[in-house]
Amino acid sequence: MTRYRLPLAVAVFTVAAYFAATGSWPWRRLDPSTAPALATVVEAARITHTELADTLHRGETLSELFERQRVAGIDLGSLTGALDPRRLRAGMVFNFRRPVEDSVPDRITVRTGPEQRVRFVRASTGWNMDVEPIAWQPEIVRVAGRIDASLYVALDEQIPDSLLSGPERERLAWGIADVFAWQVDFSRDIQPGDRFQVLVERLVSEEGEVRYGRVLASDLSVGGKQLTAFRFAGDDASRFYDKDGNSLKRAFLRAPVEFRRISSNFSRARFHPVLGRTRRHEGTDYAAGTGTPVVAAGEGTVIRAGRAGGYGNLVEIRHRNGITTRYAHLSRIRTRTGARVSQGQLIGNVGATGLASGPHLHYEFRVNGVAKDSRRVELGNGAPVARSERDAFEAERERLAAMLYQVEMAPQPQLIAQLAN
Ligand SMILES: [Zn+2]
Repeated sequence: MTRYRLPLAVAVFTVAAYFAATGSWPWRRLDPSTAPALATVVEAARITHTELADTLHRGETLSELFERQRVAGIDLGSLTGALDPRRLRAGMVFNFRRPVEDSVPDRITVRTGPEQRVRFVRASTGWNMDVEPIAWQPEIVRVAGRIDASLYVALDEQIPDSLLSGPERERLAWGIADVFAWQVDFSRDIQPGDRFQVLVERLVSEEGEVRYGRVLASDLSVGGKQLTAFRFAGDDASRFYDKDGNSLKRAFLRAPVEFRRISSNFSRARFHPVLGRTRRHEGTDYAAGTGTPVVAAGEGTVIRAGRAGGYGNLVEIRHRNGITTRYAHLSRIRTRTGARVSQGQLIGNVGATGLASGPHLHYEFRVNGVAKDSRRVELGNGAPVARSERDAFEAERERLAAMLYQVEMAPQPQLIAQLAN
């Protein structure tokens, strides 16, 4: 149990300074009527409350914790959602605020998730409970560096913990892989010496937590190809465009396996070994753990879903323009013959059925029955930005490019970090 005095005036000053600087409060849905009250406290400039954090112990009920903190009168039976007694977990931290002249708390808060906290406020008639959203402020960060083993390893090695934690670096790697899912097979295409530049949002909560937000723009050099992506008009990963305003989205994904579920984190060294490659091999093999999700590379109709000799459990999909794709050695099939599937839809899981020496996905891409290298097949241009949005796209591209490429420009207060290039 830790006890500390809340420097309330400092906290209020910080909020007030934020307001003065931005003209908005750092949290959403603030009741405007509370703002004058806060200002009054600043004038008083004295400590009015103490705050104490206490943790729900293993096997303890909420009523036991509240009793320990001399809280009475909250109808615990009516609690639902994150505070439903069946969902409470040991380790949840409750903050109890007490007026200095009172031994009984007048406010209790508890974080119930990344986006919210629950607050109990004592009133003359009893306790009122509400759910407060947690504000996350975005900052824009530019990260650039060299890729030797894999994108994930590069980000993990080159981004310090102070900027993004390990799990958030991993999420960022998946985020970038999603942006270029139609251009790059991240398990195979990366060559030592490839480079990345990426502009990302880093979100910082009111309580100081940090997480990765969204990719805003990216420039990759992969195997001699330069790929650029600018986010425009929307949160969907498919709303990325190249510098000419053509969507990055294509009719086929470069790799129909869920990379993020592969424990090797698309590290080339562990992912690359090609299993049983022979002269007559007509596909691409992805070594991955049994159960790894396999998705449809493109929209189409399932024309086969079942056992097929050496292929083991096989799914075959017919697409437009005489194209078919095959997914073999599956441990489970998650679709059926005749089903319509969309791009990225789960159709099975990696396995070792049929003639397979170990769990892997055997993937074939055929045009009019002739096998092609799925990684090299030309997928054409993406759809361009609508004519009516052209000007808005170009303005946004210029704004992002200036930060991504760090050309001479006015100081950007929101640009908080730049790593070695
Ligand atoms: Zn194969």
